Amino acid sequence: MSDTHPPTGPAAQAATRPAARLTARGIVRRYGGIEAVGGVDLMALPGRITALVGPNGAGKSTLFDCLAGTARPDAGRVLLGGRDVTRLSAHRRVRLGLARTFQQIAVFPTLSVADNVLVGAEQQNRRQDRRAAAERAARALRLFGLQGVAAESAGAQPTGVLRLVELARALAGGPRVLLLDEPAAGLDGAQTDRLVSVLRGLAGRGMALLLVEHDAELVAELADSVYAMAEGRLVVGGPAAAVLADPRVTRAWGR
Ligand code: ATP
Repeated sequence: MSDTHPPTGPAAQAATRPAARLTARGIVRRYGGIEAVGGVDLMALPGRITALVGPNGAGKSTLFDCLAGTARPDAGRVLLGGRDVTRLSAHRRVRLGLARTFQQIAVFPTLSVADNVLVGAEQQNRRQDRRAAAERAARALRLFGLQGVAAESAGAQPTGVLRLVELARALAGGPRVLLLDEPAAGLDGAQTDRLVSVLRGLAGRGMALLLVEHDAELVAELADSVYAMAEGRLVVGGPAAAVLADPRVTRAWGR
């Protein structure tokens, strides 16, 4: 065992965690009389980028909340790998390797960019190993080119940078499945290019990625599979090219 880089511990665990698929079966979520999600089946596979698309109010964010554990489905099941996580809190799911980012950016404005990312790295492990967490945070900062602003306060950063901070924070936990709610919103061209290459790299290393995205071109560029929702239901799902060419999808997207 080397003194500087022990081969065991949370960092190694995060690096060698087995890939996992995320499966939703028959998810239903109601708000009062509204059925925001009305029985949706979906799968995000390791090594694949899966996109969830649909018009405003289709139920995409609500489904995300049910997958991540920030909302409880009224019916249906969520499986991470073989494990049923439907009754587990969002926090427990993070520890099992299911991370997410939010449509509304949620950083700690008084903390530095680096500390925001460190929070994500430390959330992952029951057994706190601060050095391993710091290494994972530093790696995530580098991946998104955030080293230059690492010491600055998050509250002083423009939206595009905050979006990357959120991504880096989710990634720093070493997730097996990453849920991204409109990850490109507020990013400029160069930041979007970086996002695309980072997400492809993550999928290439076996992570399962599921993203909600409104930008049709980005979905076409990134996604292997696409699910299209409308009014709480799945309209069509399958290989990206086929779904994006489906008239029901092109109509809804105005293309
Ligand atoms: P957008 O693309 O605009 O984010 P979406 O596809 O993510 O839309 P949701 O935000 O999941 O759609 O909303 C689906 C439906 O559920 C909408 O009719 C919405 O008004 C309703 N809804 C969502 N969250 C709540 C809530 N917390 N309380 C009441 N109704 C809600």
